[in-house]
Amino acid sequence: MAVQLDQQLLEILACPCPEHAPLAVGSPTDAEADALTCTSCGRIFPVQDGIPVLLLDEATGGPSDEQPAAAESGDEQD
Ligand SMILES: [Zn+2]
Repeated sequence: MAVQLDQQLLEILACPCPEHAPLAVGSPTDAEADALTCTSCGRIFPVQDGIPVLLLDEATGGPSDEQPAAAESGDEQD
């Protein structure tokens, strides 16, 4: 069953990823899935009882090896 979401609501919603990208209805493999997919990071968020759960903890897919910016040390040392 496809997600029934207000188009206006969809326009307001954004992925919690740093890009805050818009979300597309369905999953990459199933356009009828009860899910929203980020158009930037590719995370898939579940829709429970018609309510999108836009939590990174609840998302599937997308970058799994996300590192905090503070942990960015870099290899280049002169
Ligand atoms: Zn995202």
